Amino acid sequence: MKINSAEILCVGTEILIGDIINTNAAYISQRLAALGINQYHQGVVGDNPQRVKKFIAEALERADLVITTGGLGPTYDDLTKETIAELMGKKMVLHDESLRRLKEYFESRNRVMTENNIKQAYMPEGCIILENNCGTAPGAIIENEEMGKAVVILPGPPREMKPMFEEGVVPYLEKNSDYFFVSKNINIFGIGESALETEIIDIMKNSLNPTVAPYASDGEVRLRVTAKTERKEEGEKLCLDMVEKLKNTTIGKYIYGVDTSLEEALVNTLKEKNLKIAVAESCTGGMVTGKITAVSGSSAVLDGSVVSYANEIKSKLLGVSTDILNTKGAVSEECALEMAEGVRKLMSADIGISVTGIAGPTGGTEEKPVGTVYIAVSTSKKKECEKLTLRNNGREYIRNVSVRNVLHLALKSI
Ligand code: ATP
Ligand code: MG
Repeated sequence: MKINSAEILCVGTEILIGDIINTNAAYISQRLAALGINQYHQGVVGDNPQRVKKFIAEALERADLVITTGGLGPTYDDLTKETIAELMGKKMVLHDESLRRLKEYFESRNRVMTENNIKQAYMPEGCIILENNCGTAPGAIIENEEMGKAVVILPGPPREMKPMFEEGVVPYLEKNSDYFFVSKNINIFGIGESALETEIIDIMKNSLNPTVAPYASDGEVRLRVTAKTERKEEGEKLCLDMVEKLKNTTIGKYIYGVDTSLEEALVNTLKEKNLKIAVAESCTGGMVTGKITAVSGSSAVLDGSVVSYANEIKSKLLGVSTDILNTKGAVSEECALEMAEGVRKLMSADIGISVTGIAGPTGGTEEKPVGTVYIAVSTSKKKECEKLTLRNNGREYIRNVSVRNVLHLALKSI
């Protein structure tokens, strides 16, 4: 399939009546222009499957690809997806992996899954599934080989749509293009998406090749640098030059890596410095250790970890004083610091890190609401504790964000 032209269709009555501004169309248009894909028409329709179908049928006569956003929620998704599937000549089939992810999502939030939700896991046969790391509805790329055309279905919320576009659609467009798209993801920690954008708005506006676009994914902000070239090496160079340029701006101090993850950056840095780490976890129940051990070669840098869920274990194994547990509580700066030091000494490691907090949904108090988490690091020379006050977005969210923060604290400390 060759994709030289595309049209965007944004679905949503709120857009039609002006309740929300169509930022999705602006974002996708900019990205398409940067990637050299022509766009001659654009559409908005309300939450009405028949009008969606009509627009797409007409658009596919004009363009190679139609990208839709919105209308994927549990109430409409089956209708939107089904009508598009029908148009592309595909049956709807249950996608096991999507069902598993949906179940996991609902379980982690203590919510009951309804029939409507299960429908979100039905996908057009043979389509390319686009995982949703920030919500429930997966997206899809539906191809019709005979027509030589394709339709991309993306969710409406920008924070779900953007990562799916960058991680799923851009590689697809590259595969079907005569050019090479070279991309680098700059990993950033400690600054939000909009603050980041403000800092580098000039570079973003003035860079056409490579382009620079921020997006948040997996609770982390990234900058994606993409070059479009005829020769791959040329694209690599353009991207690397831009990465260097960005490192020398005010956001440089927030950059911890390129095309890496916090845990990979941590393991690699520990290796370089020949240091060993030990972990003490309470509310994350082993998730920090899980992340570290997911990196191959982590055995060279990880001594071990203690999941000290009960107070008794915190004092027995890690030496947290009962006095602190009784007066300050297990979720406190003092406890986090003693856990980090305790596990470091227990395992004779160079660095000890710890996390203790209230992941909810129960257990919060006025003084320590759900989302209060303390993370600490201890070395022979220094100790440091940070208090996190996380949004109560559910147990999984709080635990995941805590994991990222403690990995970042460890990375910073070395
Ligand atoms: P959900 O599962 O959240 O319902 P959805 O895929 O059905 O997702 P919509 O219901 O169409 O998406 O939109 C959900 C929200 O996403 C809207 O209320 C709006 O805030 C945002 N949104 C949708 N479309 C756009 C758009 N084109 N531009 C900007 N924001 C949008
Ligand atoms: Mg919806």
